[in-house]
Amino acid sequence: MRSDQGQGDWIEIKLEPHAGMRGRCSQCRRPAPGYDRLLERRWQFVPLWGMRTYFHYRPRRVACVEHGVVVEHIPWSEGKRPVTCAMMGFLARWARRLSWRETAQVFQTSWEAVYRSVEWFVQWGLAHRELHGVEAMGVDEIHWGRGLRADNFLTVIYQIDAHCRRLLWVGKRRSKATLRRGLKALGPEVVQGLSFVCSDMWKPYLQVIAAQAGHALHVLDRFHITTHLNQAVDQVRRSESSRLRAAGKARSQGLKHLRWGLLRHGRRIRGQVRQRVHALLRSKMATARAWELKETFFDFWKYKSVLWAGAFLDYWTERALRSRLEPMRKVARMLRAHQELILNWFRAKGEISAGTVEGLNNKIRVVTRRSYGFRTYEAMEIALYHTLGRLPEPESAHRFC
Ligand SMILES: [Zn+2]
Repeated sequence: MRSDQGQGDWIEIKLEPHAGMRGRCSQCRRPAPGYDRLLERRWQFVPLWGMRTYFHYRPRRVACVEHGVVVEHIPWSEGKRPVTCAMMGFLARWARRLSWRETAQVFQTSWEAVYRSVEWFVQWGLAHRELHGVEAMGVDEIHWGRGLRADNFLTVIYQIDAHCRRLLWVGKRRSKATLRRGLKALGPEVVQGLSFVCSDMWKPYLQVIAAQAGHALHVLDRFHITTHLNQAVDQVRRSESSRLRAAGKARSQGLKHLRWGLLRHGRRIRGQVRQRVHALLRSKMATARAWELKETFFDFWKYKSVLWAGAFLDYWTERALRSRLEPMRKVARMLRAHQELILNWFRAKGEISAGTVEGLNNKIRVVTRRSYGFRTYEAMEIALYHTLGRLPEPESAHRFC
């Protein structure tokens, strides 16, 4: 055991090879006669009794009949990494529960060491994951960081089958090239095997999906359509609120506080907010009409038959187009333009659950928001695979969590 002022105590474990056992070739793992020994190296091991612990060892070089003079196989180490595999696995598992910075603090190591450990863990998982049986895929864009530059968006590809929901791929930007890159990375077998693809009405995605996964049923996601409706209601409310404010009317204040209430589905509005919404509805204000239109649209999802759903869509868009509320008319035009893909929702007959993409998106946001810890995009990408990829894990004798 050693100690140093300011750094605390640490444990050094000196390892020696067994005199009667030959080293193994690092290429083929077969025993081979010794050649010489290299300088001592140090690896960080899992902390013992709360103290940093290091292995010290002088690796042997062996003369393999097939591979010549090579460094021996060292079971606790991989390549030139200064951390043992056990410790990398240990840090990586904890890094799912704590932020990377906290993990580094608690286990007395550096942020960089945590990053490299998670990276190793994720790379192993990606190399060993199984991609058979992906039937339903969700494609979405996620905003990341500050600003609205192209680099502030991510394209994510999920598996959204009922038996397995996970992040399959993530890449920078939301262009056609990005999605093509993602589908290529997953491989033609995965794309060929798809039965359902679920996405937003984002044009570059629609085009790539039509070109590459035309055999799958392409469904526009219910969650995205609801989002567009909510945004339209909010736009109407904001412009009406500022119009009233300009005219000095007291009602603008009331509208201001209704923002979140209006996003909720009618039956879930309670208490004071409920009274305010009712007052608003009686008022015949533009916001009230927009909200009522949005609420009516919920009935759309209750249909079982494609035919009736289509008829409802015609009726609803007709009403919205005549509403003189520009944001609502915009949504109606968008829904009409993509009518077939929206009706595919009913053709998928409940194979796709509405909340899946939304739920995964929310989980992604938790990770990206933790992002002040992630100094680079690369680090965040690793973190996303780590938390949402459901990747297989390397075997380890040191499972602590
Ligand atoms: Zn060999």
